[in-house]
Amino acid sequence: MAGKGAEAPRTVSVVGAGIVGLSTAWFLQRYGIGVTVVERDTVSSGASWGNAGWIAPGLTIPLNDPSVLGHGVRAVLDPTSPLSIPPTTDTGLLGFLGAFAFNSRRSAWERALIGNTPLSSVSLDAFTELVEAGVGLQDGPKIEDAPVTALFGSERRAAHLLAELERMRASGLPLSYAALDRDAVRAQSPFVSDTVRAGVRIDDQRHVHPGLFTHALADAVRSRGGSVVEGFRVTGVEARGDGLRLHSAHGETEAADAVVVATGAWLGRQGRPWGVTVPLRAGRGYSFTVPTDTPVPGPLYLPEARVACTPLAEGLRVAGTMEFRDIEAPITEGRISAIASSAQPYLTGVDLVGRTDPWVGSRPVTADGLPLIGGTRVPGLYVAGGHGMWGFTQGPATGRLLARAVATGRPPEALRPFDPLR
Ligand SMILES: Cc1cc2nc3c(=O)[nH]c(=O)nc-3n(C[C@H](O)[C@H](O)[C@H](O)COP(=O)(O)OP(=O)(O)OC[C@H]3O[C@@H](n4cnc5c(N)ncnc54)[C@H](O)[C@@H]3O)c2cc1C
Repeated sequence: MAGKGAEAPRTVSVVGAGIVGLSTAWFLQRYGIGVTVVERDTVSSGASWGNAGWIAPGLTIPLNDPSVLGHGVRAVLDPTSPLSIPPTTDTGLLGFLGAFAFNSRRSAWERALIGNTPLSSVSLDAFTELVEAGVGLQDGPKIEDAPVTALFGSERRAAHLLAELERMRASGLPLSYAALDRDAVRAQSPFVSDTVRAGVRIDDQRHVHPGLFTHALADAVRSRGGSVVEGFRVTGVEARGDGLRLHSAHGETEAADAVVVATGAWLGRQGRPWGVTVPLRAGRGYSFTVPTDTPVPGPLYLPEARVACTPLAEGLRVAGTMEFRDIEAPITEGRISAIASSAQPYLTGVDLVGRTDPWVGSRPVTADGLPLIGGTRVPGLYVAGGHGMWGFTQGPATGRLLARAVATGRPPEALRPFDPLR
């Protein structure tokens, strides 16, 4: 699988400076490989900037949960629904939705869950490795350890999450969690309103400002001798006898022995010529920041509203919505206010009106709940993406496993379910 026959590549170009591309570059450097990361915009300008910043392997439940289909039907009818599917004639989107619906069977969800488990199991460890090597330690954001507390208006809904967590644990994911009754969940956080009747505490998770951490990773790649080139939008990959050459929209070129394309939600438009045909679309999400009466002790998860709240230095980041629209469509204020309205009943002491930093970004969502990580049918050309809701959590672990595959030519067993040519 390596660029020049079985030989290890000496140089690798990585396309996309999000958490996945930069993690891959960083771990490739561990093998003494020279890396250049090219980015069409600026570092962390994609989904890696404004997401909720949870490093939460305990919650990496695949999206193709059979119950999501019911939400999908309601989503077409309700513009404020946390899942938004606009009426469309876009055949690519219709094809994706059809494939997603087909994969929302119990057996396909189980396959995605079991496939993701080895990757999620090493996610915290991959972050630890980065931090222990100094990533983000100078001026970077600090990774906080805290449980995620899920809040529910009904015990029945809490039971659904508990069943999914039990299934994750049975698949081999190390996981500690506890059901909380009404009093226990209030004792957990002063920000929980009277509406909340049940909770679930998921232990040993982490969170960080994701965009600042991704910038710290770019700094680390540079400080170890790599280049990170912004404003280089790749428009073509040319296979040559002695490696691969990238072409940019402005006519620049970049040559390397191998290439890793880690372009997040944009990958869905790019992979077909390389044999990557698993449907992948932008699942757009929104976030904003609000002030709170006092600092919030840890992340709050509102599964019924599909909202995630993360305490950051600047306030509480509130994130939500899954909108299947064009990746470049502008931000919609209506969706921001719908997220605030849906979160309001669960929270107290949070000023959901004083919103700043509105943001929209695109999760790279595959139709089968499994990312795409590995070689393509073009020798020396790899892809890494499609992590959907959990690319920040799984990004460093992905980079570590893929770097090993690229450097040694032997893909680790954990990558087998993510074969991009499946
Ligand atoms: C609202 C929201 C909340 C989320 N919360 C969490 C969370 O709490 N925890 C978690 O684990 N995940 C979360 N996610 C998911 C996570 O953000 C993504 O899965 C992850 O950031 C994807 O990383 P990536 O590197 O693959 O893609 P990106 O970060 O999107 O990076 C891809 C990069 O490729 C660049 N690019 C694209 N095309 C080209 C080209 N032709 N040439 C050069 N460069 C190109 C883009 O500009 C971009 O910078 C959330 C997502 C959203 C939207």
